[in-house]
Amino acid sequence: MADVTVDPSGERDVVVVGAGILGLALARELNRRDPSLSIAVLEKEEEVGFHQTGHSSGVIHAGIYYAPGSLKARLCVEGARAMYELCEQRGVPFERCGKVIVALDESELPRLDELERRGIANQVPGLRRIGADELRELEPHAAGIEALHSPATGIVDFREVARAIARELGDAGIDVATGCAVTDVSAGSGRVRIAHARGATAARFAIFCAGAWSDRLAMRAGAEPDPRIVPFRGQYLKLRPERRPLVRSLIYPVPDPELPFLGVHLTRHISGEVLVGPTALLALGRDAYRLGRIRPRDVASTLAWPGTWRMARRWWRTGVTELRYAASRAQLARAAARYVPALGRDDVETAFAGVRAQALARDGRLVDDFVFSRSERALHVRNAPSPAATSALAIARMVADEATRSF
Ligand SMILES: Cc1cc2nc3c(=O)[nH]c(=O)nc-3n(C[C@H](O)[C@H](O)[C@H](O)COP(=O)(O)OP(=O)(O)OC[C@H]3O[C@@H](n4cnc5c(N)ncnc54)[C@H](O)[C@@H]3O)c2cc1C
Repeated sequence: MADVTVDPSGERDVVVVGAGILGLALARELNRRDPSLSIAVLEKEEEVGFHQTGHSSGVIHAGIYYAPGSLKARLCVEGARAMYELCEQRGVPFERCGKVIVALDESELPRLDELERRGIANQVPGLRRIGADELRELEPHAAGIEALHSPATGIVDFREVARAIARELGDAGIDVATGCAVTDVSAGSGRVRIAHARGATAARFAIFCAGAWSDRLAMRAGAEPDPRIVPFRGQYLKLRPERRPLVRSLIYPVPDPELPFLGVHLTRHISGEVLVGPTALLALGRDAYRLGRIRPRDVASTLAWPGTWRMARRWWRTGVTELRYAASRAQLARAAARYVPALGRDDVETAFAGVRAQALARDGRLVDDFVFSRSERALHVRNAPSPAATSALAIARMVADEATRSF
């Protein structure tokens, strides 16, 4: 879908770097607020929504997990509502299929209680505690003694959402230039100058939504190095077609509250496939979708960051478990079989992998909040963690507010 007809060079009011779901949603929001703004979106890949947006679980989260009153909670609940509306308006296929978060034994009930408390405080629509019988009515093959049922959770292909927004932008006369990698940023005389694969664009201001490459571009523009992006590879398996009936909608574990990952889950994809995963293992490249892909610059960046070693000291046990999942399909299948006991190692086959742009603070903290930084005439989204695909339209409003304040 290379958009070679677009010429992004010249002058604009605003340049948005990155045509993932966030950059696109932001351009849409800016255009809605002021249709007279001239905007260009610059994307290095040949298509929009390729990286995190196109390699996710495809779940429209309902807002259960996040601390009440937090930005993440508010943006997720608002964002999910807006995402469903957009899909309806633009004809993007989606399904409000519902989800269960399952407690396997009594030891998990206090954490399930806490999730229920959070979900209710966050006003997640229809959230309910259910017992084993009702769980089996919803998911006949699931194990578990109790669960939370969230009927408002849904599924969509976020890459399709990105494409729909890009079409809408095109209709509004906004240039979305693909195959247009940004290579340098400089500012002066009331302008920011963006050098890219097709020349250069000058703008009143620029907003960077560059996902896994956000730290690099921010530093290039003169922003601070903290946090660093450390890529985590998430491998998925999928159920063989004849075993798909084992999972009707979405089956999730009770997550470890210390980690920013939701744990291995079973998710029906909008295509009908049932995914198992993802794993979460340090990756050797910010685009390491294949295990063999090693980017020396990315490896050096990870190893040179003091936070990496602090994180490794704290989380090495989790790392060993994830390494086992990554090394063995059978181990990952066994982890999923705790939730669906009929699932055997021969019921799964390898599916795709995603790479998470995990922001890691210098002190070794896995950053779980949004992080912005500023450089002259530019705003950088340094961390837009899951569920940022769900929340994209609400985050876009927040970033547009931030940009209006900054410039
Ligand atoms: C395995 C996995 C599962 C997930 N599951 C879910 C889920 O079920 N639900 C959910 O809500 N969220 C989920 N997420 C999170 C969600 O996918 C991301 O938070 C969201 O997609 C972030 O969007 P983005 O636009 O910021 O990033 P991206 O989609 O990564 O977009 C960044 C864009 O910037 C471009 N770019 C980078 N550098 C340059 C440059 N120099 N010049 C031009 N362009 C550049 C990239 O090519 C890319 O297109 C998941 C993430 C992963 C990794």
